[in-house]
Amino acid sequence: MHDNTYLPDHFLRHIAAIMPAHLSMDEFVASCRRPLRRSIRVNTLKISVAAFVARMQPLGWQLDPVPWCDTGFWLSREDESVPLGNTAEHLSGLFYIQEASSMLPVTALFACEQTRRDGMLLDAAAAPGSKTTQIAALMDNQGMLVANEYSSSRLKVLSANLQRCGVTNVGMTHFDAKVFGQWLPETFDAILLDAPCSGEGTVRKDEDALRNWSIESIDEIAAVQQGLLESAFHALKPGGVLVYSTCTLSLQENQAVCQSLQDKFGDAFSFDSLADLFPAAEKACTPEGYLHVWPQIFDSEGFFVARLRKQHSVPNTMFKPGKLGKFPFSPLPAKESEPMLREIEAAFGVVPQGNLFGRSEEIWLFPQLFEQVQGKLRFDRIGLKLAETFKKGYRLTHEWALAYGDGASKGFVELDIADAREFMMGRDVWPEQEAAGTGEVIVRYQGHTLGMGKWVGSRVKNALPRELVRDNNLFV
Ligand code: SAM
Repeated sequence: MHDNTYLPDHFLRHIAAIMPAHLSMDEFVASCRRPLRRSIRVNTLKISVAAFVARMQPLGWQLDPVPWCDTGFWLSREDESVPLGNTAEHLSGLFYIQEASSMLPVTALFACEQTRRDGMLLDAAAAPGSKTTQIAALMDNQGMLVANEYSSSRLKVLSANLQRCGVTNVGMTHFDAKVFGQWLPETFDAILLDAPCSGEGTVRKDEDALRNWSIESIDEIAAVQQGLLESAFHALKPGGVLVYSTCTLSLQENQAVCQSLQDKFGDAFSFDSLADLFPAAEKACTPEGYLHVWPQIFDSEGFFVARLRKQHSVPNTMFKPGKLGKFPFSPLPAKESEPMLREIEAAFGVVPQGNLFGRSEEIWLFPQLFEQVQGKLRFDRIGLKLAETFKKGYRLTHEWALAYGDGASKGFVELDIADAREFMMGRDVWPEQEAAGTGEVIVRYQGHTLGMGKWVGSRVKNALPRELVRDNNLFV
């Protein structure tokens, strides 16, 4: 029980006025004070759900399926001495720690045939990336996903999560998401707007979430949300699908934001009913067909999800192309890219997918559909940095290893648990059970990649990026 959870009276009065008749305020307050159940989502870019369960159950992990996400599980562990984020499986990107109700918006986005995995998708407010990585896994790294985030510090966390999870089809941008309707009208097949919000649904995770709560701040943020939703709607192709979600409960930030779009463009789109999204979804369904997840319904955080389909174009008075600087990349000529790809295949047995681009001393792999948005948007990062070049050759990157290393059929070394810990602590290792090789090597533990190293005699020199080095409390 979280007795210190801050639930001010004026907030509770506000909630009581909008709580549906079949739900109780007492249960609402009790659930807000109850700690959240831990939940994770298996990253199927790296491991199947069956293989993950088979790997973790013997370690004392109990995994109870989340009914609305077939890769999501509530987790309880016999031994919690190692933080979840420091387990070998987390460090090598096999799972993402994600609150169960926050898996709903992406489930809703993909539960219709319009959302194709090889399409052009937008995640308009993406950091830290729980839903971006969920979308990329459902796209199986195909097509292209533009992941936008306004806050610079959060953009860095997003980038780290994409790398850890082996995501290769994302272009990251750093804008107020209001620009998408102006710069890229009718561009995206599907859009997730997981909007910034007042976070009323998050008190179970953060007991101080409501410290600054006021009606005025809700009204202010609702105005921002309306602007973001309208812009995202313009950026959606006719025939496309858009999910609007928040982790808050007030009608102003949820139903009223949807209504504002309806008032403007009501004949150009329709909201889908999400009552059948999963068994028992109707318990959270509103008369309009939205999911308004009160924390006591599924014993989760509070959440709101609405999904709409755009039937036809609307006049876009917003359109105004963005200003772009000089694009610093150029396609790598075939006489450079082909030998490189052949060498990588010969050394590791995997062929990187995508288009190779270069800039100064870097070679990048861009997503398949990148050309559709090339010259229309300034990106912070596109796809995956494959290699850094120097006079006599190139060095493959850590992020390449995290994305492609698990699929390598050669050129890797398997560490035992003691060496794996040493490696994650930034130290060189002398793997006894393997014959020494030469050159760059993918470093794995139980079949999954930790990073890159380089053979120097019988030693594997550690090439883990310094910022990923852990100094204690690692997996045992
Ligand atoms: N989708 C994320 C996830 O699942 O990991 C969570 C997103 S969080 C609810 C909302 C995000 O929107 C925050 O990271 C915030 O920094 C960002 N944000 C705030 N204002 C924004 C704006 N005008 N445009 C784009 N992003 C914005």
